[in-house]
Parts: sequence; C-alpha cells; structure tokens
Amino acid sequence: MSAQRSLEVAPEFAARVLHDVPMRKHTSWHVGGPADLFFTPRDIMELASFLRQLRPEVAVLWIGLGSNLLVRDGGIRGAVVCTVGTFGAMERKSVNVIRVEAGVPCARVAKQCVKWGMGAAEFLAGIPGTMGGALAMNAGAWGGETWRHVLEVEVLDRRGARRTRTPKDYEVGYRQVSGPENEWFTGATLQFESKPGADSELIRELLERRKDTQPIGEWSCGSVFANPRTDHAARLIEGAGLKGYRIGDASVSTKHANFIINHGQASAADIEALIRHIQMTVAQQHGIELKTEVRIVGEAL
Ligand SMILES: Cc1cc2nc3c(=O)[nH]c(=O)nc-3n(C[C@H](O)[C@H](O)[C@H](O)COP(=O)(O)OP(=O)(O)OC[C@H]3O[C@@H](n4cnc5c(N)ncnc54)[C@H](O)[C@@H]3O)c2cc1C
Repeated sequence: MSAQRSLEVAPEFAARVLHDVPMRKHTSWHVGGPADLFFTPRDIMELASFLRQLRPEVAVLWIGLGSNLLVRDGGIRGAVVCTVGTFGAMERKSVNVIRVEAGVPCARVAKQCVKWGMGAAEFLAGIPGTMGGALAMNAGAWGGETWRHVLEVEVLDRRGARRTRTPKDYEVGYRQVSGPENEWFTGATLQFESKPGADSELIRELLERRKDTQPIGEWSCGSVFANPRTDHAARLIEGAGLKGYRIGDASVSTKHANFIINHGQASAADIEALIRHIQMTVAQQHGIELKTEVRIVGEAL
C-alpha cells in the first residue's frame, strides 16, 4: 500500500486533520520539519474514534507544549496528536487531591494548587510543559518530582480503549518513565500535601532566581542532558570548555551549559550535531557518557 493511502483518514475527520504541519510551530526550540498529520481532538471520545480509524501501520506521537522535543528537519511520518487546547480540565477532589487532564500547563497546576493550600505542587511552576509531558518525563524541579504525587493515571491506547492505571504499572526514574507500550496519558489524580511557606510570592521568587541562572526567554528545551549519577551535566560541559560553542545558529548557552540555544535560524541538524559534539568532547575529557534528556524524534532531511 502506498504511504499516501495509508495516511487517509475517515471522512468525518477530513476537515479536522491538518496535513504537513511544520513542527517548528509546536516546539520550544522552534525547529522541526512537517508532520504528515496533525490532530487536536475536541475531547477524548473524538480522539478515541480518530485513533481507531487510523490504519495500524500509521505511527502516532503525542505532544504537549513541545518543550522537551527535538523534531528533526525531515519531520514526522505518521500522526501527531496535540493535547494543548483540549484535555484542559482540573478539579479539586478533596483537601489534598486533584484530578487534572493531560493538556493543562504545569504552571497553572502549580498556581491553582498553591491557592488551594497544596504547596507541594510549587515545583511544577518552573516547568513550561503540560501535565501529560510531565507524566511522560517525570518532570521535576526544586527537589519535587511529578510521580511522587501520582495516585493514578488515565490512559488511552492505540485502539481507542480507556483505562486507569496506578504507579505500580510503571517503572519511574530520573526524567524517565516506562510502562505499557502504545498508550498515552489523558489525565491523572495527584496528591499534594500542604507545605509551610509555599505561596504565590515564593513561586515568584523561585522563578526570578531561575532567571538568574538559566537563559529563560531564549529558544531552548531546558536541560538537554540528564545529570549522570555522580555529577552535573552542566559542570561537565563547562569543564570541557564548551560554553558558547556554536554550530550554525545553535550554541551552548553561556549562562547554563546544559542549555542549547537556537538563536533564530538553527536547524534541528545544527542542534543534533551540537549534541553529538558535546557528548564526544565530554566523553574524551571526562570519560562520562552524557545521555539526552530531550526526546529526539522524526526523520533527518
Ligand atoms: C526553559 C525550559 C526549562 C525547563 N525546565 C525544566 C525543569 O526544571 N524540569 C523538568 O523536568 N523539565 C524542564 N524542562 C523540560 C520540559 O518542560 C519538561 O520535560 C516537560 O515535562 C515537557 O512537557 P511538554 O508538554 O512540553 O511535553 P513535550 O515536549 O510535548 O513531549 C515530551 C515527551 O512526552 C511525551 N508526551 C507528551 N504528552 C504526552 C501524553 N499526554 N502522554 C504520553 N506521552 C506524552 C512526548 O511524546 C515526548 O516524548 C524545561 C524546558 C524548558 C524549555
């Protein structure tokens, strides 16, 4: 069957599915070639029907705010499902428990939880992604980590079936989560304790402090490499003399060596070449293999 034919969608989705959507519009690095199909569902029922009618050979990638994604310049073969602008509900279930859908930005969760007296959610304020992305990455900051708070997650699989799972169904580590294949998070129930001193003023101060040490506001993906067990990736990169090192329009941030900045015209290939160069140099100089925290997806040109 031709690739074109396998990408055909059922008539009820023809007007709702976008074709050849540049992924640079959906990633915080502002790079990435076209996605064959791009779908933002209205609700979970519609998404379930969409997944069911896709041919089984069509690959599916879910994205949130694209703040941890390097999409290569050749783009994505298959379908991208975007949770932003949908799956946006959040409710308080009891004094310390919330249910939140996957498309809700982490910053909103932090703000609302702190207002509700659940200060332990404050760490989410510094994460510029969605709750779906935070669940997929076990996102964390300021000593907090997403999965420490998960009571259960709601998932949808490739055949459009919904179920609820608990943390015991997953292996959760530092910025990584593995669990059943071919299913994605649509929501979660989380518990956040109260925390003395956690209020919106403290969040503001923490975010201000972050601005002093990280290149916030520039085009980046946050930390590119996971910290190795015994050291900090930023320290190793800086120690290898790579701060400011540039390939094309991408460079190692001079403010925080674990950030790579797109100065405006970088391609995904520039960024990936810089990632490989950093890995090689750090391995030569420190004997440590840095692993990427960012997810690299799609085809090269
Ligand atoms: C300036 C800056 C600062 C950052 N600081 C931090 C930080 O302090 N701590 C930290 O942990 N991260 C940080 N990040 C990285 C990033 O914000 C987090 O990894 C975030 O959780 C990604 O969420 P997202 O919605 O953008 O996911 P995306 O980047 O869209 O996707 C990331 C991964 O999650 C998967 N995914 C997304 N949604 C779902 C879903 N619903 N179900 C299943 N899989 C899904 C994607 O397929 C992909 O593999 C930072 C990024 C930036 C740009």
